Amino acid sequence: MGDVLKPKQLGEPYSPWENRNLPNALAKVRDSRGAIRFVERYGLLGYDQLVPLTRFDEPNQRVGGDPLPWVLAHAAAVRMAIHLIAGLSWKDEQLIRDTLTNHQTFVNVNGKRRAGFLLPQGTDIKFVEFFRPPDTSAGFRDLATHLVRKLVNDNTTGIRFALSRRAAGVLAWAMTARALVDCIWWMVGEMAVAGSDEGGHAVRLCEECGMPFRVTHARQRFCPPDQFSKRSLCEARRHTRQFRQRQREKEGS
Ligand SMILES: [Zn+2]
Repeated sequence: MGDVLKPKQLGEPYSPWENRNLPNALAKVRDSRGAIRFVERYGLLGYDQLVPLTRFDEPNQRVGGDPLPWVLAHAAAVRMAIHLIAGLSWKDEQLIRDTLTNHQTFVNVNGKRRAGFLLPQGTDIKFVEFFRPPDTSAGFRDLATHLVRKLVNDNTTGIRFALSRRAAGVLAWAMTARALVDCIWWMVGEMAVAGSDEGGHAVRLCEECGMPFRVTHARQRFCPPDQFSKRSLCEARRHTRQFRQRQREKEGS
């Protein structure tokens, strides 16, 4: 399956449930460099935790690591899903159509070229044929809804409530995930529901990089920062560029 990511060093521990930014961060991964950066910061997506144990397996003999093509497939699917969610929330039909066009791939089945999508399902990546919907906005909205629902449902089977110990002698229900990738897809689902309930108040496109993000406070205009930093990288990039532009204008005048 090609390269396997197995970082030697991992970042500080954090609680993924408290970081609404994770789908946005994974959606930005487009190559091996981006994948390595993501894994070093947020941890492995957890391929080996999703592979079912066979009776010949010794759990402690598992070698671990995420196959790079698999990480890139999940990243691309999250990117597709959050763009569709943004299109649905804003009732932006063009965004939905463009997203579907950008993400479709073609395969040859018995000598015939077929259009479809590569949709991750746990450890598998499946080709799902694209049946062009009736050319109406409802048709495209329905297809977008269907794809988001399928992706989220297929990839959150490891989410469940389990009892956890809140303090000595105190129990509470806590949401648990088998692997980080389950948790990220759950957040994609949360974003989809918030987009349905609150429309454009819940989902925006970053003014710097165009990536959709989950709005957590009203004045947010850029991809949110991760939990280790206070400032959004996209906001910082925008300010640096504006600063340089002003410098150039001053020098030019
Ligand atoms: Zn951004």
